[in-house]
Amino acid sequence: MYEITLIPGDGIGPEVSAAARLVLDATGLPFKWQVEQAGEAQIAACGTPLPERTLDAIRATGIALKGPITTPKGSGFRSVNVAIRKELDLYCNLRPAKNYPNIATPFTGVDIVVVRENTEDLYAGIEHMVGEDAAESIKIFTRKGCERILRYAFDYAVQNGRRKVTAVHKANIMKCTDGLFLDIARQMATEYPQLEFEDMIVDALCMKLVQTPQRYDLLVLPNLYGDIVSDLCAGLVGGLGVAPGANIGRDIAVFEAIHGSSLRVAGQNKANPTALILSGVMLLRHIGEPAAADAVEQALIAVFREGKTLTYDLGGSAGTDEFARAVAAELGR
Ligand code: NAD
Repeated sequence: MYEITLIPGDGIGPEVSAAARLVLDATGLPFKWQVEQAGEAQIAACGTPLPERTLDAIRATGIALKGPITTPKGSGFRSVNVAIRKELDLYCNLRPAKNYPNIATPFTGVDIVVVRENTEDLYAGIEHMVGEDAAESIKIFTRKGCERILRYAFDYAVQNGRRKVTAVHKANIMKCTDGLFLDIARQMATEYPQLEFEDMIVDALCMKLVQTPQRYDLLVLPNLYGDIVSDLCAGLVGGLGVAPGANIGRDIAVFEAIHGSSLRVAGQNKANPTALILSGVMLLRHIGEPAAADAVEQALIAVFREGKTLTYDLGGSAGTDEFARAVAAELGR
């Protein structure tokens, strides 16, 4: 029995998480889903958008599948998504982006894994007003933080047959913070002679990514660049609807799509659940079920190839649940 914490989230979260659950259940593996809540609606009930019982549940199962959660812009509570990563020390955000058949994109042959540091950088949220007319935010990089994300990236590359690691930074300008990241990357690369290694400045990388994305294999980046560049990579392969992710710590992993709560299409049974289903594929690999992971991925590919049951973002008109049922039906064939 695999006990998994399921956090539906808000906006399109409940719809896409129900779809992902349906598909994972269709693998026939014995899942016990423990549903827990987080988000604005919890403030009235628990006084906080991130109840301690939700964190405890994730700590207990060690694995969660999570829908997106809205963060108010400007004022209001701080991101629950960032808080979960920080509270559970999920230091690695793994975001693969690859082409799937029949999903129209300007590129073919893209297969990039983005490894984003998930706990430091400007996301530490240490910011304040300086008087009334200025604001200051502090960018934190530690040796420990840089070392563990870079170690994860190099080890992941070796274990998953990747050939090249690109460390991304802006060390020409931020010589202390990004400089520390780059120094450690260069040093660590010498321990992996079987991998090609290069470093690139983040702005140059962005330009190259939209020209020749095929030349990249695994990118490892500090938190802020990783956040932005992983959305860019999602755009290279069909958009946020098809871009999965995982937040990984030493003993705990939380699987969630890159996309947000997409309030514009929430509650309309329109959202594409592929990103969260693919996050479920990552979950299956994480728990040691590679055959089930391959089966779900192949079922998705079959539905894309057939092209009859696609959601609006991929040019179709299928509902979220209809798409999930089509994938589950493929699994049953
Ligand atoms: P978003 O990802 O919700 O939406 C961006 C665009 O992509 C929209 O046009 C949306 O309709 C489309 N889109 C996203 N997911 C889709 C899907 N599955 N199927 C079809 N179309 C999809 O980004 P946003 O509007 O910047 O953020 C909305 C809210 O979500 C904000 O409050 C933000 O803070 C939050 N957010 C949460 C997470 C998370 O929970 N990890 C991540 C990003 C943003």
